[in-house]
Amino acid sequence: MVQALVSLLIVLIILMIICVGSVNKSSVRNRSSVVHLIWTAIFTAGCYTVFILVPPEYYNLATFASGLYFLSTDWLVVYLMIFTAAYTQIQPPSKVPRRIIGFLAGVDSISFVVNTFTHHMFDLESKVAEKIGIRYWNVQLKGLHTVHRIFVYSLVLYSLCILLYCLIKSPVIYKNKYSSILAQVLAVVGLNIICSAMDAKFDYSVVLYASLAISIWYLALYASPKKLLGRIHSTIVEDSVIGLFVYDNDGKCVGANPMAKDLFAEDEEINVIAEQYLAEWMEKYKDTPANVLSAEQLVIKNGEKIHLYVTYQKFLDEKGRNLGCCFQFENRTEMVRKYTEEQYKATHDMLTGLLNRNAFEEEAKRILSEAREPYCMVCSNIKDFKMINELYGADAGDKLLAAQANMIRRSETEGSASARIYADKFCSLMPRRNYDEQQFVQDMSMVMEIGLEGSFKLHYYLGVYDITDVNEPVWTMYDKAMLAIESISGDYEQFVSYYKDEFLQHIMEEKEVLGNFDKALEEEQFCMFLQPQISRDGTVVGAEALVRWIHPEKGMISPGIFIPTLEKAGVIHRLDLYMWESAAKKLEEWKKQGKENLSISVNISTKDFFYLDICEAFRSLASKYDYNIKNLKLEITESALMENIKDIMKTLDGLHWLGYDIEIDDFGSGYSSLGMLKDIKADILKIDMIFLQETKNVERSTTIIKNIIFMSKELGMPVITEGVETKKQVDFLTDVGCDMFQGYYFAKPMSVENFEKEYL
Ligand code: C2E
Ligand code: CA
Ligand code: CA
Repeated sequence: MVQALVSLLIVLIILMIICVGSVNKSSVRNRSSVVHLIWTAIFTAGCYTVFILVPPEYYNLATFASGLYFLSTDWLVVYLMIFTAAYTQIQPPSKVPRRIIGFLAGVDSISFVVNTFTHHMFDLESKVAEKIGIRYWNVQLKGLHTVHRIFVYSLVLYSLCILLYCLIKSPVIYKNKYSSILAQVLAVVGLNIICSAMDAKFDYSVVLYASLAISIWYLALYASPKKLLGRIHSTIVEDSVIGLFVYDNDGKCVGANPMAKDLFAEDEEINVIAEQYLAEWMEKYKDTPANVLSAEQLVIKNGEKIHLYVTYQKFLDEKGRNLGCCFQFENRTEMVRKYTEEQYKATHDMLTGLLNRNAFEEEAKRILSEAREPYCMVCSNIKDFKMINELYGADAGDKLLAAQANMIRRSETEGSASARIYADKFCSLMPRRNYDEQQFVQDMSMVMEIGLEGSFKLHYYLGVYDITDVNEPVWTMYDKAMLAIESISGDYEQFVSYYKDEFLQHIMEEKEVLGNFDKALEEEQFCMFLQPQISRDGTVVGAEALVRWIHPEKGMISPGIFIPTLEKAGVIHRLDLYMWESAAKKLEEWKKQGKENLSISVNISTKDFFYLDICEAFRSLASKYDYNIKNLKLEITESALMENIKDIMKTLDGLHWLGYDIEIDDFGSGYSSLGMLKDIKADILKIDMIFLQETKNVERSTTIIKNIIFMSKELGMPVITEGVETKKQVDFLTDVGCDMFQGYYFAKPMSVENFEKEYL
């Protein structure tokens, strides 16, 4: 029996030493308290083993060993307390009680050592149990030993309370962490009490001390974290938003988490599906030996598209043998949806849903880089779109744009791209063969019929650029199509214009004109030419002042080239002021020479009404130069008179009041020439030269001229016809009562010098 107990204790001691050796390698937080505890347990078990082996003749040695055993139990409970505090993370006793405990343990220890000589704690007696033939040391405890007991049991009780408290408080998965230590401590105490109560020959609780130490080593450092980790792993897998299929090395599905079931099937068929999935995957990737493989995949479930990011992973052991594999499915549907949405927002115009500027450029570049056939770019612009917004509100404008976008979208074909570039400017790139002008015009006209209240009639323009060089910047192509539009802007009859290189040429010319204008005016490169006006009896009654630009390098430039540009740029009034002044100056000069019978007609541009106080201009001319007011005649084109009739009438009244005569220029070229005559008080009618130009309808033209002259006679207005080129025309006009003529038949516009030589 003694041998059995001793062997058991030695085995336990060896085991504990192994445990301590392994603890050092681990890095767990409460490591040091475990180590102290085990060392003390080794010491305790060691002392007790020595004690029971000491033969009867070594009484003092036995007393000493036994004393060491008792004192080591003091330190065992002290370290148990320290360990419990660390293990449960409950604040250990504060400094003072801790010192008191240490002091008491120290005093108790010394007391046991001294006991070897004084025997005040216990005494030994070597005995033999006759029945079983065992020799043993009988321990006779003295009164003071009770103090030791109280001290030890108090500390044990303290540890037990802490463990019990934690056991109650902690979540289920942690209960085991405390319960097994608690049980073992109770067992040690219980056995200890039983042994002493029954006056046992040996204190068997020593064995439990040792096993408790080993058990603490295992529970504190290994079992709980491992178990917890396992538990956490399984929780992660169960609750994961990533679906999992796990297979063994035969390809049998051994597990699928709820997410995987959710993704593939709700019923128990999941294993079949999983195995089928693996088979399909292996078939697809049989040539790829990688252990980890990822791929995007689209799954249709209940008619809904699900984007999955699939990761396949093979598990191998350290020797590279197959252990199984798993699939991870990340549902990226929401992510893809968001990405698609963001992508859409970044590349599309929110109002119309067409591409935006930047995206169009990218798309156009892409299309053209792959183009195998001729392409064209079609741009559109709604006339006076700003006015629609102002008159009918932004909603009406938006509605119109949306309607146009829908029309464009409907007509889009493979290999084309459309965008709203800005405001009402749309642009489409398409293969040339898909562009059908008639269809486009028809569709656009339908869009324009969206029904705005009132009589507002929408008009639009299309500019088409036939792409000759696909490498040209997209915005150059766009500009060219827009240039085509510009060439017909203001025209109500034409809807479509095709880009021609002349447009670009024209722009360059315009730039040149405007660039040189200031200098030309300053250097008096502009010069007044005069074209005589002849009365029916053949006498010269006056002349029309027509501007000529005598360019230092280019020579004489006729007004048809630069006047429209200057009008467009809003600077024509500066030239007109100059011309009017030239005429006034000349009239003053003639007056001084006594030639008061000749008049000069000057042109007033439509745009002058916007930029000038015309009355004031002619009033100041009259005060600056001394000429006969009636000799400076003012030509205002019919179309100018049509616009802004109220303001014009006021100006005309002012001019009349100053004493000027007003001629209606280009009469008959506009839309409602006759209607206008009713309101406008003009003095002379100048019939446009279109009626004289060779047409198929000579008869109709002559009838019109005849009647215009007849009517103006009725209104008491003298008539002058311009563009007279032949004797026949002069005869005819004389016959029908025309008062004056102007035209190449008599003379072309000429320099003032020549005019004076000829007619003065
Ligand atoms: P307009 O006022 O109608 O001037 C008459 C134009 O007809 C002149 O062209 C004249 O040279 C041309 N013409 C005269 N007789 C005949 C003819 O028998 N046959 C033909 N085919 N043409 C004839 P021009 O000088 O080239 O002027 C063109 C236009 O430029 C003028 O048309 C006028 O609108 C504008 N313009 C000319 N000078 C001025 C100016 O000082 N100020 C403004 N604002 N415009 C001017
Ligand atoms: Ca004129
Ligand atoms: Ca004219």
